[in-house]
Amino acid sequence: MKNRLLHVIFVFSVIAFCAFLFASCGCSHSDKTPIVTVPPTCIDEGYTTQSCRNCEKTITYNIIPATTGTHTVRWIMTDTTWPGISTNKCINCNLAGDGEPRATQVGDRGPASGFICFISADETGFEVAGLTGVNGTFNTYFANFLEAAPSDETSTSISWGPANLSITGATMITASSSSISATDLANSFGKGRRDTRLIFNAFSSLSVTGRAAQLCANKTVVFDGVEYKDWFLPSIGELNELRNRTGLLNILASSAYYWSSTQGSANNAWDMSATGTRSNYTRSYSCRVRAVRAFGSTD
Ligand SMILES: [Zn+2]
Ligand SMILES: [Zn+2]
Repeated sequence: MKNRLLHVIFVFSVIAFCAFLFASCGCSHSDKTPIVTVPPTCIDEGYTTQSCRNCEKTITYNIIPATTGTHTVRWIMTDTTWPGISTNKCINCNLAGDGEPRATQVGDRGPASGFICFISADETGFEVAGLTGVNGTFNTYFANFLEAAPSDETSTSISWGPANLSITGATMITASSSSISATDLANSFGKGRRDTRLIFNAFSSLSVTGRAAQLCANKTVVFDGVEYKDWFLPSIGELNELRNRTGLLNILASSAYYWSSTQGSANNAWDMSATGTRSNYTRSYSCRVRAVRAFGSTD
């Protein structure tokens, strides 16, 4: 009961305050500007304001505190034409930081707020194997960049999927853990997106859910008003590049293993540790999952 009384007094006080502001100068404030709402930024409070065109009195109300108190300035990719252009600005409010835009570098933030982890050596780029005629159809295309998602898909490690299952059409490297070759890695590069979709479709038909490839295929990120749904579980070759790039080690959890979308046998798949150890390992083992996307087509 007491709270209700306080509430009534508060509301009445606010109305009286506003009335005072608008009437104390003797002007009837009959010609007011539209109400403008300014959202808070990292360092400035937000507010709502309105002015009288006759006496120029302004009232400001509904003050909202600044969101963080500091800017978070990063190099953010703003042009995806190879070799890319990155602009130094606040990732929250877009305020410009120091430095002119420059060529995109590994470690810059990607279009979907992830991390650029691979840039092709020339504008031709690399081939991303396509998949047509089935669920999740897309055509083969050429890409110049790989972007790793900003964080892992789960806070815990999960298994790759069922054993005793060779997924038709998807890459399989049967080498032992220590003898995977540079050629094997290169051959699996560009296959992750297709293989993720093939795994997704095979698991769906078996009513298997929530596995590494499926988490990536189902992933959606909205950044700067654009929706990104083209994520996939990287192949072992793609995961290898992600891990190798300068400055990228700190985005993968140290001493953790990450799944790739590359099969090792009907019972195994390839994983890789954050320190670069690659293993052809049983699918029931639990690893972390980091989604990537391949973009920046030149055709
Ligand atoms: Zn007025
Ligand atoms: Zn900011």
